[in-house]
Amino acid sequence: MKILVLNCGSSSIKYQLFEMPENAVLAKGVVERIGEEQSQATQRSNGETLTMAEQIADHEQAMQAIERMLTHDEKGAISSLNEIDACGHRVVHGGETFTGSVICTDELESVIDAYSELAPLHNPANLTGIRAARKMLGNVPQVACFDTAFHQSIPKVAYLYALPYALYREHKIRRYGFHGTSHRYVAREAATYFDKHKYAVDLITCHLGNGCSMAAIKDGKSVDTSMGLTPLEGLVMGTRTGDLDSAIIFHLVRKGYKPEVLDKIFNKNSGLLGISELSNDVRDLEQKEKAGNESAKLALDIFAYRIKKYIGSYLAVLNGCHAIVFTGGIGENSVAMRRRILSDLGNMGIELDDRKNTRIVGKTGEIQSDKSRIKILVIPTDEEGAIARDTYALTMEDVLV
Ligand code: ADP
Repeated sequence: MKILVLNCGSSSIKYQLFEMPENAVLAKGVVERIGEEQSQATQRSNGETLTMAEQIADHEQAMQAIERMLTHDEKGAISSLNEIDACGHRVVHGGETFTGSVICTDELESVIDAYSELAPLHNPANLTGIRAARKMLGNVPQVACFDTAFHQSIPKVAYLYALPYALYREHKIRRYGFHGTSHRYVAREAATYFDKHKYAVDLITCHLGNGCSMAAIKDGKSVDTSMGLTPLEGLVMGTRTGDLDSAIIFHLVRKGYKPEVLDKIFNKNSGLLGISELSNDVRDLEQKEKAGNESAKLALDIFAYRIKKYIGSYLAVLNGCHAIVFTGGIGENSVAMRRRILSDLGNMGIELDDRKNTRIVGKTGEIQSDKSRIKILVIPTDEEGAIARDTYALTMEDVLV
């Protein structure tokens, strides 16, 4: 069974074609700069790279480009779209409605549309992708996998902000949390790694990529997470602030900053980029730090310090845990960042083994010392693979019913 997984952003579509149930990747690609003068599409399949540069006006044209790439004579993966049996979509906001992945229906589309209010940058693009895929793939079943779903187990005491309750009642202002597909995936992988049932592990999971978030996981279920109503809260990220005193906004508004300008500053010009005034990329900053750049060092120190604070608070939330799990581009690959975060935590039972830390890059493995009470695990995330598995499970159920 072949499953296409789509992750539609406002100006890009990432896609992967899977053979299920083997979870084998047949093709992986991205269409970027949709709507700009020169769009770019790249695909890897069977060890071959295919690139296209042309104008792609909208998501429908992007899907046609994906069709051409997937069915390319020499470098494609299939001969016709008829070979695709189901399609899974990453959808960012599922609000309080969805605790798991679901088959797309007209009714579901209107719910995703309604949550666009809470994720204006993401849900409209996700919905456009679902509609464009339906046009391209006809009646093939489509599944929506929500970033928020895994965090719907978070209790009220952790998801409610200390605002007037009416704001929750009337406007659904609360913590939702994101990166749920990744936190769930690494939590399940960690349980398998430790040979435990999926509901028998207590973990702190750290998804550190361009966007960064952490989750406290009790008995395999998310009980707290660092992102909030939107993906702006919590950790310092590539270009996002993470936690800050909300009165900074009123102060800057009084100074004449418009809300749209502040939105851009907090989401696009802050975080590692804002502090360092150099880059949003940890690799770049690590190189610059090595060359003696103090701003790069400061940005990386602040990034690590915030994570350390969350580890402390989630250890208290969970009353201890089996393991801390690192994933995402930074968590999987940056030996130096893991060392920065985990240094001087020995009294809390967390101790890194430097040699193991250096060896585990981009692969699964434990990196704690023999003395460490809490295990430290690196697990490469696989959000697309998780979406493919959900899509497979749901569409198989559908076929069986
Ligand atoms: P996204 O959230 O867009 O999927 P990734 O998970 O790929 O992003 O993470 C991107 C981040 O990972 C960047 O800050 C990048 O510098 C960092 N990164 C990737 N590889 C390394 C590495 N070898 N060393 C340090 N940082 C790395």
